[in-house]
Amino acid sequence: MQTRLNQNLLEAIDRIEKARIATDRRRIVQLVAVSKYSSKEEIATLYTCGQRAFGENKVQDLQQKASALETLPLEWHFIGALQSNKINALLHWNPYLLQSLHSLELAQALQLRLERENKNLKALMQVNSAKEESKSGFMPEVVLEMYARIQEECRNIKLCGLMSIGAHTEERAVIQKSFETTQNLFAQIKDAEILSMGMSGDFELAIACGSNCVRLGSTLFK
Ligand SMILES: *Cc1c(COP(=O)(O)O)cnc(C)c1O
Repeated sequence: MQTRLNQNLLEAIDRIEKARIATDRRRIVQLVAVSKYSSKEEIATLYTCGQRAFGENKVQDLQQKASALETLPLEWHFIGALQSNKINALLHWNPYLLQSLHSLELAQALQLRLERENKNLKALMQVNSAKEESKSGFMPEVVLEMYARIQEECRNIKLCGLMSIGAHTEERAVIQKSFETTQNLFAQIKDAEILSMGMSGDFELAIACGSNCVRLGSTLFK
């Protein structure tokens, strides 16, 4: 397993580097290993290969894996649709970054709990860049306004950028357009640092569109 995962990781890093260098030599692209379909053993193995950031999309899975791997210094990213009744459970594990802040209601509910516990949480605002019904996130036309409003009203949420999932299609031009929509919004936000776009099937295109954080699952754990 170690050899296989190490090989996958090296291949992914190599492809990220090629895409990055082709667009912007000075940009650093972070790799989040999406472990939602993987076991704690696989995560521990990827850790020994040097990977530190892992992403989960269900609070229960994050809970189980984070507690089983508590002795390892892992950086947990939450990338799924967070329900209000799971907020306490998520905060208990001090996630490094909530990548999927998808609504004002969620932001307000988070703010209440954070304030009560005197904690801060770094988060990315999720953009529904292709306006797909199947996806959560803010519609592109309200992103700037809502970003400013959450910064203003939810002081314990530290917004540091945007996250988006590429359009669900085989058409490269349509995926590209969805990435560019998010890229344009990102460029208009002062002090935003993280632009999280790109999964196993489209991360090179995402990097070409300015992504500095890719979330890879299947290509790493295959
Ligand atoms: C599952 C998931 C990924 C990783 O997807 P792969 O195609 O397996 O790389 C990335 N981001 C989010 C939000 C996901 O849910």
